[in-house]
Amino acid sequence: MSGEPDGPEDRLRRFATIWSRAIFPVTASSLTRVEFEKELMPLARRLRDALGERTLDAPAAQAVGAALIGVHCTDPEALTRTLDVVDAYLVLYCRADEDRREDELRARCARLQHSVAAGFAQALRERTLVEQEAISRAALSARSAVAEALHASEARFRAVFHGAAIGIGIADLEGTVLEANDALVRMFGGAENLVRGRNVVEWTHPDDAPHLWRLYEELVRGEREHYRVEKAFYRPDGTALWTNLTVSLLRDADGVPQYQLALVEDTTERRLLNLRLRYEATHDALTGLPNRTLFFERLEKALAAGDGMRFGLCYLDLDGFKTINDSLGHAAGDRLLVEVADRLQGCATAPGEMVARLGGDEFVALTTGRDTAAEVDDLAGRIMHALSAPIRIDGRELTVRGSIGIVEGPAAGERSPAEVLRSADITMYRAKSAGGNRYELADPEADARAITRHGLTTALPAALERAEFFIEYQPLVHLGDGSVRGAEALVRWLHPQHGVLGPDQFIPLAEDTGLIVPLGRWVLEESVRQARVWQERYEDAGSLRINVNLSPMQLTHPGLVSDTVDILERFGLEPGALCLEVTESALIGADDDLLKPLRRLAEMGVDIALDDFGTGYSNLANLRRLPVSVLKLDRSFTQGMQRFPADPVDLKIVEGIVALAHSLDLSVTVEGVETGAQAEQLRDLGCDTAQGWYYARPGPPDRLHELALCDATR
Ligand code: C2E
Ligand code: MG
Ligand code: MG
Repeated sequence: MSGEPDGPEDRLRRFATIWSRAIFPVTASSLTRVEFEKELMPLARRLRDALGERTLDAPAAQAVGAALIGVHCTDPEALTRTLDVVDAYLVLYCRADEDRREDELRARCARLQHSVAAGFAQALRERTLVEQEAISRAALSARSAVAEALHASEARFRAVFHGAAIGIGIADLEGTVLEANDALVRMFGGAENLVRGRNVVEWTHPDDAPHLWRLYEELVRGEREHYRVEKAFYRPDGTALWTNLTVSLLRDADGVPQYQLALVEDTTERRLLNLRLRYEATHDALTGLPNRTLFFERLEKALAAGDGMRFGLCYLDLDGFKTINDSLGHAAGDRLLVEVADRLQGCATAPGEMVARLGGDEFVALTTGRDTAAEVDDLAGRIMHALSAPIRIDGRELTVRGSIGIVEGPAAGERSPAEVLRSADITMYRAKSAGGNRYELADPEADARAITRHGLTTALPAALERAEFFIEYQPLVHLGDGSVRGAEALVRWLHPQHGVLGPDQFIPLAEDTGLIVPLGRWVLEESVRQARVWQERYEDAGSLRINVNLSPMQLTHPGLVSDTVDILERFGLEPGALCLEVTESALIGADDDLLKPLRRLAEMGVDIALDDFGTGYSNLANLRRLPVSVLKLDRSFTQGMQRFPADPVDLKIVEGIVALAHSLDLSVTVEGVETGAQAEQLRDLGCDTAQGWYYARPGPPDRLHELALCDATR
């Protein structure tokens, strides 16, 4: 050793340096070696002090051993090296007392090493214990946290499972139901054994969609994760339980399919409601027959069937239904329609046949198949036959007739339902124009030429403006002396395409659209003007009267009285020269409000005639109430007299009516007199006036001049 001898602190530091170099490599400390050496300095000092004490300070040495643990020297190798360093260098560098004997210091050092080792071991054990405890506590608490979470999620699942309003079931992959919640059990009637333990394939239902069980197989084979279907089940009482069923595959942690989870939503009520709403939307409330909507759906399908399939359609419109409805009231009319609907339904019971009500008194019957040409003809025949028996309503026997238009053809998707129906409508109209109570087959060429209701209706307003209407006059002849007493004004339409159209073809349309009011006013004006012309030019012809028809709608129009008065005044015709013809059906059941305008006109001297008497199921006793002065016996009475000899019952009826009319101060006009024999007979029965082809067909106004003149000169 050279130079100044080291002081005790220098020697102590050297000891600490040696110590730190020895054990630093085996510590788990995060310090640098120099920092670590600083940590060891106080320990080194305590060892030095302990070495110098008179009595052995074992606890101090133990504390040093324990402190080593505190600075992360937990490896036993660190202890071994520490003991080596203490053994070799402590006495050398740290002896404070030069006087003490070497052997005494060595002995002391050995005991200090003992204490250091003891302190080290004790501290290490304690620390291990603490660590173990912390670890086990941590492990314990970690474990219980997982369990708790599991438990919580399980509890939540259980709560959801049992409390859910939706049915939940769990089945294994063989289909056996392992679990079912309360809602599901309730859906199946409430008994658990009806669900749990069952195999899902037992729930096959005839209404199952064809792909349903394929989806199921794919799921249990693990080829799909879930599927959703609408499915029906049988309840124990045999009723159907309809559900939205969602089935999901449950896999284990390794992805292996384990269970199937079914969510079952009871849709029975909703389905019933939907069915009912659908039923109401597609059926006629009065008759219960399918309505236009459903019929169009079916017709559309039938028309697109293809592959040699055909369709046949009968379009039926009742003849004279309006008269029944107007005269007997809507309640009776409704009952009649219900009865007709029943009869029609009985005509189309074969598969592929259906009957529907399109509205009002219009019905359709549809037949589909390969031989509809023959079938539809048969069907129309059955319908006509079904209608032929009288219908009893309110103690009356009503005869119902109908006109049918038939369309038949291949279901090749060439025609739309609307086109087919239009063709049927046109054809029905043709049957009606031909006198009704018959069926006609559609003819495409005739269709092209056909006068359609729609076409006429839209052309009506312009027709009035363009003066396409004209009036023909048909003489009214006095049966006693054969003199012409006047004429009935009968309106016609000179249609630019279709030629002359009769009132039956357009008056109903004018009534439907309200155009009848201006049209009727024009007819009245024109007829009154014409009557005035006759009176002025042919004074010898006497006071010719003019009969003008009034529609029910004109009757309720508020301007009726004022318009009539205005027209009469304008043309200078006395009210007594005008007779307004009102159909019987428009007046039966009429209340005083409706009769008031007619009564006012009657009081002014205008005659009111009850037209088509005998067709409207009128109550004869009711006649007294009405402000009428003329009865016009319907043509049907006259027709009954065409046979020779005439039916004695018919004759008696006419005789009775005439007697009654006369007793009520009504004069009687008969319509439709076509032969001299009829005219004679009617005169004998007491009728006053006649009208018919026997005398003259309706014609231009000049014709009447001639007729009137010639009998004035007779
Ligand atoms: P209506 O008032 O009963 O008219 C008599 C109908 O019988 C007329 O038919 C006439 O041409 C027809 N007729 C006359 N004599 C004979 C005969 O001997 N044999 C046959 N088979 N028929 C005969 P039309 O002109 O077709 O009129 C039909 C109906 O149209 C009329 O029946 C009337 O209710 C209505 N009508 C005609 N013109 C008008 C009008 O200006 N306004 C209104 N609201 N209705 C009218
Ligand atoms: Mg008339
Ligand atoms: Mg008439």
